[in-house]
Amino acid sequence: MKNRNTVLILGITSILILISVQVYIISGIWKQKNEMFSLRYTMHSQEALNYIRRGMSTDGFDTVRFLLSNYSEKANKELHAIKDEKELAAKKKAILNYFTKVINQEQDLSGLLSTYFGSRGFEKNFNSSIVINNLEMISNDTIVVYRSEDFANRLLPDRSRKVLIPEISRSKIWVNWFHEEDNNYRLVFDYFIDFSNQQKMILKEISASLGMSTLSILLIGIMFMITYRNLMEEKRLSNLKTDFINNMTHELKTPLSTITVAGKTLEMPQIRNNDAKILETAKLIGKQSVHLNQLINMILEISMWERTQFQLDKKIIRIEEIMNDVVDSFKSGGGNNASINQKYNFKGAEIDLDEFYFTTLVNNLLSNAVKYSDKEPVIDIEGFTQDNNVCIKVADNGIGINRLDQKHIFDKFYRASTGNIHKFKGLGLGLYYVKKIAQAHGGDVTVSSKPGKGSTFTVIIPCNS
Ligand code: ADP
Repeated sequence: MKNRNTVLILGITSILILISVQVYIISGIWKQKNEMFSLRYTMHSQEALNYIRRGMSTDGFDTVRFLLSNYSEKANKELHAIKDEKELAAKKKAILNYFTKVINQEQDLSGLLSTYFGSRGFEKNFNSSIVINNLEMISNDTIVVYRSEDFANRLLPDRSRKVLIPEISRSKIWVNWFHEEDNNYRLVFDYFIDFSNQQKMILKEISASLGMSTLSILLIGIMFMITYRNLMEEKRLSNLKTDFINNMTHELKTPLSTITVAGKTLEMPQIRNNDAKILETAKLIGKQSVHLNQLINMILEISMWERTQFQLDKKIIRIEEIMNDVVDSFKSGGGNNASINQKYNFKGAEIDLDEFYFTTLVNNLLSNAVKYSDKEPVIDIEGFTQDNNVCIKVADNGIGINRLDQKHIFDKFYRASTGNIHKFKGLGLGLYYVKKIAQAHGGDVTVSSKPGKGSTFTVIIPCNS
């Protein structure tokens, strides 16, 4: 359990680290692409501006210039006449609002840029905005209407009119700054564009790497799950094998110790003179040797079955006949304390069967029904034909099997009562053989059971197998 948790934690941690690394890389690529996109469109815009200026002799702000020039003469005079601080501030605000509104609404640059982008096959749907950095009204003296905080920082040290590019904004692409000046005002503003579908366009560009990294995470996840499951399965099998060896040792030790004790008994002087006792002990030794032999044969058989496929020696047999024979001999053998009811409706069906293996199959089911019972065993055997199949049901009133164990009881070496080897002896092979034999005949076996109530095993074999 501890091992299992360590493997699981290690695996999940590595996958999480992998995901984090991938997310880090992808976000880096995303950021880079975003910056490259902005840079690309800044460059396209510069080219477009040059083209528009040279080819069309405009910068897209002619109307703006005209309107501002008209407005600013009057506004300038009014501003200079105001003495009251509050009134001055309100006037400045009104002037700034007017400038901002006119530049945004009356500029033709966006339309010209869009046409240029469209003609070059670039994305032409964008929003534009202007941000005023500096607005001064000039007369004999200069009144600063507005100056952005970073405007001073953006002026080059020599205080020339050159303005540096503002900090690249994440969502907006800086295109250019504009400087306007006439007798009444001095204005500096930035012109920005932004693409509402920029993220979508970038996503498209990096979709290949995104897909690949998702796929690689998925693949690694699947590979981990498969490896983990195999590991757990191997661990389960190794546990089962250990259980099997313990059970087998226990099974072998019982006859062996009986034989040892019997041998010792025979050495005793008082027994040597008693013919009846000698005979009885000899018989016991004989019986236990046969049992020991059977166990050893079973082990040999297991390895035989593992190495070779079933070699079925099939014959056409009337199913009802063989069922009666098997049950009769079971009754006279190990099952003499069980009450067995048979109800057949095989309609004379004949099937191609290996008599030996089929007998083993039924015997295993019957002996389990007797073995896993804590009261007088009552076994109901039902047989009938259905859709060209022969169906045999063996139901008992035994201890039953819980849901979890039901999934595994047909596995090799699996024993539901693991650890409780003394109560019900066994090696966990009976049902494994039942399944193998049924499958070798083209059929199958299933179980339905309720703990404490009993179990029903259903064997289905095709009639023309
Ligand atoms: P074994 O009997 O040697 O343990 P089997 O392969 O025959 O091995 O059975 C596997 C397990 O299935 C058993 O250990 C037992 O717990 C359970 N089992 C099989 N048959 C029955 C039954 N008729 N009633 C209850 N439990 C059963």
